[in-house]
Amino acid sequence: MVRAVVMPKPMDPLEIREYPDPELRAGDVLLETLCSEICGTDIHLHHGRLAGVPYPLIPGHVSVGRVLETAGEVFDVDGRPVTRDQVVTFLDVHETCGHCWHCLVAREATKCPSRKVYGITYGAEDGLFGGWSERIVLQPGMKILPLPDGMEPHDYMGAGCGLSTGFHAVERADIRMDDVVVVQGAGPVGLSAAAFARLSGAGRVIVIGAPAGRLEFARRFEADDVLDIDILSPADRLQTVLEMTGGRGADVVIEASGNPAAVPEGLDLARDGGTYVIVGQYTDAGDVAVNPHTQINAKHLDVRGCWGTAFTHVYRGIRMIARTRNRFPWREMVTHAFPLEEANEGLELVAGFNSVKALITPGSWRP
Ligand SMILES: [Zn+2]
Ligand SMILES: [Zn+2]
Repeated sequence: MVRAVVMPKPMDPLEIREYPDPELRAGDVLLETLCSEICGTDIHLHHGRLAGVPYPLIPGHVSVGRVLETAGEVFDVDGRPVTRDQVVTFLDVHETCGHCWHCLVAREATKCPSRKVYGITYGAEDGLFGGWSERIVLQPGMKILPLPDGMEPHDYMGAGCGLSTGFHAVERADIRMDDVVVVQGAGPVGLSAAAFARLSGAGRVIVIGAPAGRLEFARRFEADDVLDIDILSPADRLQTVLEMTGGRGADVVIEASGNPAAVPEGLDLARDGGTYVIVGQYTDAGDVAVNPHTQINAKHLDVRGCWGTAFTHVYRGIRMIARTRNRFPWREMVTHAFPLEEANEGLELVAGFNSVKALITPGSWRP
């Protein structure tokens, strides 16, 4: 039998259920789960704020596991065979079709209506397709990525899904060397974005967020300045950024906070002709007032949304971690780990913003 945490429906406590050992179909890969993350998405799932979720489900969309078995030969994206005992992660998105209008004409595969996401849009009855489980079944066509040599699961999972989201946001931002970059939000997405902004050549990186512990982390991710929203009012923050930029504002602002109120503030923090990337508004948290004349049009501002991640972001993001793991404290972002039995406590902790990254560790592996 396989033990897994199940979210029965929104707001109900999580429970552990047992499932029979999976029967593999040709091309499946069976993983022993080493760790999966508890992230903001799981809080949104538990609050019922995501559309199209087939409760009950096994949460856990970004995970690392050890290969137990492959049903026939399976290859990773570099064309190498996936082998027993390899430690791998995978793109949580499956069934991107490659032949719809979004995939082929717009070439925006993250908007493909066929895509399914492990731990989010598969139900528990579909199979072991979530990471809060002792085993995960990777279906044929899943994009599997062995962790680079010397890299341990928590080197990657410290940032987890925030890694590829932050990577994607920085790619969207088209940072130029010496740019001043403001990041709104100091969670895993914001911290990853700050690190990748630095690696992209930003001249000055300013992180706005809270609490103080996360801002300490931001400094270790080479943020030059941190502005604590528990201490500074929005007006003070704007004033500070203007003073740091000769009264002009930042070249690039990246919103990674999830708070709608951050958006009008971010529009003001950007300089005339600057770029504003909005990546943190993953769920609909309500409306805010924006002045289209003063905040966008007259500023000649470039405002860009950023939705989802693709394999390229996971692949290159992980390689960047492997390259910089002695420079940035990626793995130290893991602040908590919970066995399956304590998933409710883990969810509560993350909902209260009392962690940087919390993991579910279904077996004996610990960070
Ligand atoms: Zn498609
Ligand atoms: Zn996540």
